[in-house]
Amino acid sequence: RKGNVVITGASSGLGLATAKVLATQGDWHVIMACRDFLKAERAAKRSGMPKENYSVIHLDLASLDSVRQFVDNFRRSGWPLDVLVCNAAVYLPTAKEPTFTAEGFELSVGTNHLGHFLLSRLLLDDLKKSDYPSKRLIIVGSITGNTNTLAGNIPPKANLGDLRGLAGGLNGVNSSPMIDGGKFDGAKAYKDSKVCNMLTMQEFHRRFHEETGITFASLYPGCIAETGLFRNHIPLFRTLFPPFQKYITKGYVSEEEAGKRLAEVVSDPTLTKSGVYWSWNKNSKSFENQLSKEASDEEKARKLWEISEKLVGLA
Ligand code: NDP
Repeated sequence: RKGNVVITGASSGLGLATAKVLATQGDWHVIMACRDFLKAERAAKRSGMPKENYSVIHLDLASLDSVRQFVDNFRRSGWPLDVLVCNAAVYLPTAKEPTFTAEGFELSVGTNHLGHFLLSRLLLDDLKKSDYPSKRLIIVGSITGNTNTLAGNIPPKANLGDLRGLAGGLNGVNSSPMIDGGKFDGAKAYKDSKVCNMLTMQEFHRRFHEETGITFASLYPGCIAETGLFRNHIPLFRTLFPPFQKYITKGYVSEEEAGKRLAEVVSDPTLTKSGVYWSWNKNSKSFENQLSKEASDEEKARKLWEISEKLVGLA
């Protein structure tokens, strides 16, 4: 049978490029989990994805009710779940003031981390039930959360500190909207959320890989300088960023190439190792990359897991 893969944020950028590769490959049915149904449907059509190989189900990661609703709707469809890709993200680098999710969490960490945390915890049961030969849970990471790289050292750097802001609920009222308890900084909040994504993937691996056989993985697909992720940045940045990445850092990758890379992590029969953070070298060959000290801190991963469970109502 075809594999069933859920991809969050498949209405643009990396998610859409990945959906396109898998849906046209023919052996996948892609469930596009998107907050804008019409945009997703149009994007799929424009990409030429064969109708029988994709479906759209509504999901707004900035609302935990919506996450639960998505899980119910997905279960009602009767499709087994073979691979889950947590890809959606928001990046608010120029925001002066924090904005919040439906439950009152700062929007970038609330969407990128907490929404995906609840989604993947709930869908773990569905993955367990699937009889697919290689079941996977993939959380898209980023180099920007990796302070052991050049790009990860551009200020403001990611830093979760002792997680006091997160423990306080990230609501900007009786706690800071930042995980480390500091002053709001949109660019840092995004980087922090990506560190959470990578810590969560490893904690999943430690807790569930042996018991379930599920492959847990993260990746840095390269710098896809033209996606909608930078839509909230100043115009000058959006003009200069792609050539800067192409010619100076040489980290630039097209949406199409990045989509191929993520599709590889979904379906390549050789990429079954769990607990791995994949990256690609200049010849587009995948390799197991090292994570920064903070992004591989086991104690922090456990603490993040426990606090996140409380915030999303699982504990
Ligand atoms: P895009 O902005 O193009 O795509 C992000 C997707 O997330 C969109 O489909 C967007 O939906 C969706 N999304 C945002 N908020 C929500 C929400 N509340 N509920 C559901 N979906 C939501 O950016 P990219 O393709 O660049 O980003 C994809 C992933 O790649 C992210 O995890 C990002 O961190 C990662 N990444 C990107 C890099 C880059 O250079 N671009 C580098 C490294 C990692 P909508 O279409 O409705 O806006």
